[in-house]
Amino acid sequence: MSTRILVVEDEAPIREMLGFIVEQHGFEAIEAEDYESGLEKVVDPLPDLILLDWMLPGGNGIQFAKKLKSNEFTRNIPVIMLTARGEEDDKIKGLEVGADDYITKPFSPKELMARIKAVLRRVSPTSLDDEVEFNGLKLDPVSHRVSANEESLDMGPTEFKLLHFFMTHPERVYSRERLLDYVWGTNVYVEDRTVDVHIRRLRKAISLHGHDKLIQTVRGSGYRFSVK
Ligand code: CA
Repeated sequence: MSTRILVVEDEAPIREMLGFIVEQHGFEAIEAEDYESGLEKVVDPLPDLILLDWMLPGGNGIQFAKKLKSNEFTRNIPVIMLTARGEEDDKIKGLEVGADDYITKPFSPKELMARIKAVLRRVSPTSLDDEVEFNGLKLDPVSHRVSANEESLDMGPTEFKLLHFFMTHPERVYSRERLLDYVWGTNVYVEDRTVDVHIRRLRKAISLHGHDKLIQTVRGSGYRFSVK
């Protein structure tokens, strides 16, 4: 699961440069050139962070950020505003509507990446390619390896994605629908019961040392990854 960054910026050279920089650092860049197409790209699949230009054709960054924050599904996506030098009022307004940070143009690639990483770390300490571990169950997103008490485990790509999602979102209940959106993306046609099939396979794959018990069925609601 690579980290997706949505770049909403109408000036093509800046947008392409932003896309280039983030991809160079191992992120996936999605580009949008105006307000409407920017919002359209927030639905499927959800970006992990949005770089949002202040003035856009069709609407401004404030309206955009407000729209995100008013929707339960997109509320937690971090936003970094791109503002022009000297627009102090804009920065304050941006932070008031829920932007997580802002960058003043022009900026260096180094400054951009530092801001992005700081924001990602703040909102989700494991959203980067960090190894995750619970009770001896270890997952390394970079090498795509999973092990249980140092013994390596085999699983399919979907089970891997599912496990990575669970391990980075522990102690919360997710409905089948929600898991489908997160793991498969909203445009993919998959039935709810497909989730159950993959959960079953995943449990089997991590059962060697009893880690299958970490994936709990919550009756009537869905699934939860929990060490409790
Ligand atoms: Ca602009």
